[in-house]
Amino acid sequence: MLDPYRVRRDFPILSKKVHGKQLVYFDNAATSQRPLQVVEAVESFYKSLNANIGRSVHELGLRATEAYEDSRKIVAAFIGAKPEELVFTKNTTESINLAAYSLLVSGLISRGDAIVVTRMEHHSNLLPWVRVAKLAGAELRVVDVDDEGRLRLDEYEKALSRGAKIVAVTHVSNVTGVVNPVKELCRLAHDAGAFCLVDGAQSTPHMRVDVKDIGADFFAFSGHKMLGPMGTGGLYIRGDLAERLEPPFPGGGAISLVSCAEDSCSAEWLHPPHKFEAGTPNVAGAVGLAKAVEYLRSVGMEDVEEHEKRLTAKLLEVLEGVGARIYGPRDMKDRLGVVSFNLDGLTPHEVASMLDLEGIAVRSGHHCALPLVKRLGSPMGTVRASLYLYNTPEEVEYFGAVLEKIKKLATG
Ligand code: PMP
Repeated sequence: MLDPYRVRRDFPILSKKVHGKQLVYFDNAATSQRPLQVVEAVESFYKSLNANIGRSVHELGLRATEAYEDSRKIVAAFIGAKPEELVFTKNTTESINLAAYSLLVSGLISRGDAIVVTRMEHHSNLLPWVRVAKLAGAELRVVDVDDEGRLRLDEYEKALSRGAKIVAVTHVSNVTGVVNPVKELCRLAHDAGAFCLVDGAQSTPHMRVDVKDIGADFFAFSGHKMLGPMGTGGLYIRGDLAERLEPPFPGGGAISLVSCAEDSCSAEWLHPPHKFEAGTPNVAGAVGLAKAVEYLRSVGMEDVEEHEKRLTAKLLEVLEGVGARIYGPRDMKDRLGVVSFNLDGLTPHEVASMLDLEGIAVRSGHHCALPLVKRLGSPMGTVRASLYLYNTPEEVEYFGAVLEKIKKLATG
């Protein structure tokens, strides 16, 4: 069983005081904190290994390249992928754009095709597809959710029935914590002849992910939400598909050969993942992300998930106790530890500001998922508390006590 008090010793920031109060960090869906091991790995790279990677023949360059590629092996294995199937990116947003533009420039989305998304997507898994649909002359289909924010499977199957080319769906909602049955969704997409992209920004940090078991063609995630450095993320691209795809952002480091005649130039791409990583990558970030993954693996993802589910059940009880309006399902089998709510008579920002004065960090607003918060009947947005492995039952109890105080203030 996970011991959050032990874990917390690795996160000095969690002992910090905010407005004179002990920090309670419940904004993990936005970004997590990082353990000392990750901070030290990044520092150590810059102190003793720093050089550009790729074609260097000097010692530091070779060792930096080795560190970068070793990190790729570790992170790829964490999601059940082969190293050559993992492209390092700066975040989920960049990963999804990379997938969308690869399909576009490879001619795999074109006029008359359909792109299927859902109403529960983060803007980062919506706007790239809106843009690519427009550029390709393709149709965009938005699958609805029910009143608790669960995907409407009947609508999903209907959306797949005519000419769908790609489905882009989130694994876990960053507003309601709803977990989508992505294995089933990818199977249905494939049966309909469509590719399947899974946005794993909110799943990869909190549960065991196996991209092969899910059957995704693309899987995007952010390193900074899973104890890794800011500006790190990844995109899994299924091996044979990665070989076929044209890289949308060409440049140095992605080619094996470039030749120019007087009036034209051409390039031969390196094999994946290198053809998708033009330019100098965030090498220290990759090293730090690998360290984060090792940290999570040593704790155990099953234990991380179980711990968060236990805390989330308690958090939901606390919220019900103070009469909060909760968005999303109560049943823990349908959800993870992202919880959205509102208090009557107060805007989400007012609640978040009052919580901040008591040391509690939460998010408020539309959480980059406007179509969903509107559908859930909360156009002003919600307050969002999101948990991680270092949160404790005592923090949840304190959160409840502060909410009770805020509610009393609001009702006079
Ligand atoms: N998708 C989901 C489900 C998310 O929660 C987020 C981050 N809130 C993103 C995509 C975008 O992640 P990033 O900001 O790291 O690109």
